[in-house]
Amino acid sequence: MKAQVFYEPLKMELVDAPDPECGPADVVIRVKACGICGSDVAYYLGNSSLETPDGKGPCVLGHEFSGEVVEVGEIPKTLGLFSPGDRVVLDPVQYCNACEVCKRAQPNLCENKAVLGVSTDGGFAELARSSYTGVHKLPDNVSFEEGALTEPLACATYAIKNLKVEPGDFIVVYGPGAIGLMMVQLAKARGARTVALVGTRDYRLQIGKQLGADHALSTEAGSAYYCEDIPGFISDQTGGRMANGAVTATSGLAAMEQALEVTGRRATIVYFGLPGDKDRLSVPVLNQILWDKGIRFSWLAPNTWPAALQALATGLVNVAPLVSHTYALADLVTALHEVKERKGNPMKPVVKP
Ligand SMILES: [Zn+2]
Ligand SMILES: [Zn+2]
Repeated sequence: MKAQVFYEPLKMELVDAPDPECGPADVVIRVKACGICGSDVAYYLGNSSLETPDGKGPCVLGHEFSGEVVEVGEIPKTLGLFSPGDRVVLDPVQYCNACEVCKRAQPNLCENKAVLGVSTDGGFAELARSSYTGVHKLPDNVSFEEGALTEPLACATYAIKNLKVEPGDFIVVYGPGAIGLMMVQLAKARGARTVALVGTRDYRLQIGKQLGADHALSTEAGSAYYCEDIPGFISDQTGGRMANGAVTATSGLAAMEQALEVTGRRATIVYFGLPGDKDRLSVPVLNQILWDKGIRFSWLAPNTWPAALQALATGLVNVAPLVSHTYALADLVTALHEVKERKGNPMKPVVKP
């Protein structure tokens, strides 16, 4: 098969690689679509280390992918779970289902987990292998490109679950990237009356408005959505009571601190976007206590894949407008550079091997 193998920062090559072998607990798929994540760009540029034993390549990147089953291992075959030709999507977080942590139903934190495209080969290749427990059937009416967005959607679903949205709530979403725009739709679907979307780059805020954000607020002077005083705006909109919840789908510390400022009594704040490992947050503690607030962190997508797939199948969340670009497998390096340089207003670029 053809595979894009990442060796070291800035060194990735399209090579002829051996086809993955299908072990007894495995399923091998022909990859149809694989999303490019910000973390793929970070690995490629050397801004972030892989989770391989030594943190280095060779490794096939790509952890957001869908495809068609070509081979089914002995165990899933005996269980009658999958057949060649099935349209599927893979949960890249392959947990062991046997450690103490898994047995407490916290598989995102499994002590033995492997992550496709991060610690072991992923989806930027013609074929990929998964443990059968990570394989989910893709609903018939969901395209492979949309299916490739299931992984980020499942993560967004978990974050919004942690936000505990109640009908009628005023919710603030920071970060109008693909995941933030999924969060806008999920918050609305859970009954939020008003969702304010905060961030930069007008084309993203505009898509956010199309997908249901009631307010788009830019922090960039000169933007059509520029808002000089975001906490003041939220205060005006809520009669001084402030928002019921805020979630940050951005790595920016300023947004994380402002999320504390825009939220009111009994509010929940969910931190989702990944800051740098040296970053520290300054929390005005007394204000948070006196308003009896909850601060929650959210990592990956435990037990949310079926809900995410349902949201795609029923149209509760529309991800089609988020697929901004498609690339051939051979053009992956070009794609990574274009995403880095934000060429052509990227949202979620997808590679189609
Ligand atoms: Zn990702
Ligand atoms: Zn485990």
